[in-house]
Amino acid sequence: MSDMKKELLYTGKAKDVYKTENDDEVIIKFRDDITALDGGKKDTLSKKGIYNALISSKLFEILEEQGVSTQYIKLIEQDEMLAKSLEMIPLEVICRNIAAGSLVKKYPFQNKQELNPPIIQFDYKNDEYHDPMLNDSIILALDIVNQETLDKIRDITLTINKVLCDYLKERTLLLVDFKLEFGFDKDGNIVLGDEISPDTTRLWDVETLENFDKDIFRKGESGVVDAYHKVVTLVLTEDEKDKWNVE
Ligand code: 5GP
Repeated sequence: MSDMKKELLYTGKAKDVYKTENDDEVIIKFRDDITALDGGKKDTLSKKGIYNALISSKLFEILEEQGVSTQYIKLIEQDEMLAKSLEMIPLEVICRNIAAGSLVKKYPFQNKQELNPPIIQFDYKNDEYHDPMLNDSIILALDIVNQETLDKIRDITLTINKVLCDYLKERTLLLVDFKLEFGFDKDGNIVLGDEISPDTTRLWDVETLENFDKDIFRKGESGVVDAYHKVVTLVLTEDEKDKWNVE
């Protein structure tokens, strides 16, 4: 456990955010808690926090290498990330390459239908209102962000999608869909925050379409942590696995 952590700033469904001695930096602790169905389904799964921290850190590093600004600074423990402080924007930016989940429940898409160009969707990150889907007019009327910021978020999301699809496909994973959260840094730049992990993405095997993500938990099946572990073994290098003691 890192001794850099000061007071707890915020606690979410699966992560805690701590202050550090530097106001520009926070520590994000990935917990083993898992929730689904609007908080109606909960559990605690040993090692899930570690796996999500390792996967998020790796994917943020890949994105930084491709010029995407992220909150990530470094991993300081297996499940603790040192990150830039951000003023978070209450949007869940969802990008879909293949129709699945709520999209096929709510609209007449075929399950597993390819979506080209990808669909970008904005949900309001608001538990009280159960994360309703937004459009540009509602976002502007609620003064969540201005049009220029929204357009930039769309562009950055498409770049992220391209980088991650390519990276994951080389590692036998299809990026079906994912959810991003952005914030502003102290200079007002738009920065990718939160996490990119099997909790926030749908990841399928390119051949068999077997899923390695939170849908296993949503469906009440076993093997959630094994699936997350599998993703770790696919995305980390051998050196990184050695460094973080991943079997
Ligand atoms: P869907 O709208 O099909 O439920 O989700 C689309 C994608 O966004 C999935 O990869 C899902 O994991 C992610 N997603 C959407 N909303 C949330 C959310 O509130 N929390 C998390 N962790 N992921 C979400």
